[in-house]
Amino acid sequence: MNKADSERMGGTLENIGFEWSEDPNQASLILYNTCTIRNNAEQKLYSYLGKQVKRKHNQPNLTLVVAGCLGQQEGEDLLRRIPELDLVMGPQHINRLKDLLQQVFDGNQVVATEPIYIMEDITKPRRDSQVTAWVNVIYGCNEHCTYCVVPSVRGLEQSRTPEAIKKEIWEIARQDYKEITLLGQNIDAYGRDLPGITKEGRHKNNFTDLLYYIHDVPGIERIRFATSHPRYFTERLIKACVELPKLCEHFHIPFQSGDNEVLKHMARGYTHNKYRQIIHTIREYMPDAAISADAIVGFPGETEKQFENTLKLVEDIGFDQLNTAAYSPRPGTPAALWDGQLREEVKNDRLQRLNHLVALKAAERSQRYMGRIEEVLVEYQNPKDKTQVVGRNRGNRLTFFTGDISELKGKLVNVRITEVRAFSLTGIIFEEE
Ligand code: SAH
Ligand code: SF4
Repeated sequence: MNKADSERMGGTLENIGFEWSEDPNQASLILYNTCTIRNNAEQKLYSYLGKQVKRKHNQPNLTLVVAGCLGQQEGEDLLRRIPELDLVMGPQHINRLKDLLQQVFDGNQVVATEPIYIMEDITKPRRDSQVTAWVNVIYGCNEHCTYCVVPSVRGLEQSRTPEAIKKEIWEIARQDYKEITLLGQNIDAYGRDLPGITKEGRHKNNFTDLLYYIHDVPGIERIRFATSHPRYFTERLIKACVELPKLCEHFHIPFQSGDNEVLKHMARGYTHNKYRQIIHTIREYMPDAAISADAIVGFPGETEKQFENTLKLVEDIGFDQLNTAAYSPRPGTPAALWDGQLREEVKNDRLQRLNHLVALKAAERSQRYMGRIEEVLVEYQNPKDKTQVVGRNRGNRLTFFTGDISELKGKLVNVRITEVRAFSLTGIIFEEE
C-alpha cells in the first residue's frame, strides 16, 4: 500500500512538472513517504532526513516533504522538531498533494493530518512497473488490533465506488498493464460503508461482488488482492476465485499468532482452529493454491509455549511465504502499555527460529513446481544476469528463465520449472511440439 501511495504522489509531482532525479542530493524537492508500522521503519526516516536538512541550510530553495504514516503520527511535532520541513502530511491527504505544495510555494509551512473524506484521484500514478499495477479499493481500517498503529494513521474505512475502481482498471488496461493487485488493509471490509443491502441481508457491493464486477475488463490477464482478514473471510470469495479465471490462486491471509490466548489479546477475533479451517476450505476448492501470511513474535506476555503454537501452525499449514516481525511497541496502541514486554533478545531469538522454519517449509512447498509447466507473467530483466527475465507464476513465486526482455515483457509465457529454491524458481521456455 505504501508503494501504491508513492506512485500516486510521484504521479502528482510529474503532473505539476517535476522530473525524477537519480541523485537525491541534486533534487530540488524531496518527498519521503514514510512507514511507522514498526520502530525501525521510523528510524530510517531520521537517518535519511539528517543529510538533507543540512543541505537545506545552504540551499534554502530545497523543498522537504514528509508524507505517509509517520507524518500522520507525528504531525506538528515533527515540524517543531525539524523546522526545515516544508510539508508534513498523512496518507489521507495524498490526493491533495498538488494544493498542499502550492501552499508551500506560496511561502507557508504546512501540516495536513486532519481526518478527511478522500476524494477520487484525478492524477495518474507514476507506476514503477509497466506490467503490474496496484489499485486501491478501500482506504483505512476499522479494526482494533491491539498492537497496530494503522487505524490511527490511515483513518476510518472508506471504500471507493465500484464504478471508480473499474474506471481506473480500464485506464490501466488501456496502458497495456496485464496484472492488477487490489489493495485494502482489510479488503474483506470493502463495501461495508457503501449504500445498498441485498435480499439476503448482506452489503450489496461487498468484495466478492466487486471481483465479479471488474473481472471482464479486456486486456487485464491476472487479478490479485491483499490483505484478507480471517475474521471476515468467506467461502463465497473462494468460490469466486475458482469461478473467475483471471483470479490467481494465491491468498494472503495474516494469522499473526498460532495461539488462542495471544490472538485474544491481539483482539484479532478468531482462533487458530478457525484459521486452519479457512485454509482447509481453500485447499478443498483449490488444492494447489499458494498461501502466504504475516505473523508477529514476542507479543507482550507471549510465553515460549505460546510461541511454539505459532511454530506448530506454520509447520502444519506449510506457507508458501510468511512475512515475520518481532513485536514493536507503537505509540498510542494498547499493547505498548502492557506489562510483560519481552526483551529484544527473546524476540529476536523467536524471530530467527520462526524464519528458519518458514524457509524450510517454503522450500518444501516449492518442490511441487519441479518439472511442472507454469504460466509466468514476465515483468523485468534479471539485473544480475541480463540473459534472464523475471516474472511470477500464478502462485506468486518469482520465476527466472533465459529470454529477451524486449520481446517478452508483459507476456504470459509457459515455463518448464527445472530448479526450485525456497522463494524462487528457475525454468526454460516450454515450446509445444
Ligand atoms: N491489515 C493487515 C496488515 C497490516 S500491517 C492485517 O491485518 O493483517 C502489516 C503487518 O505488520 C501485520 O500483518 C503485522 O504482522 C505487522 N505488524 C503490525 N503492527 C506491528 C507491530 N506493532 N509490531 C510488529 N509487527 C507489526
Ligand atoms: Fe492493523 Fe488489524 Fe487493521 Fe490489519 S486489521 S491494519 S493489523 S488494525
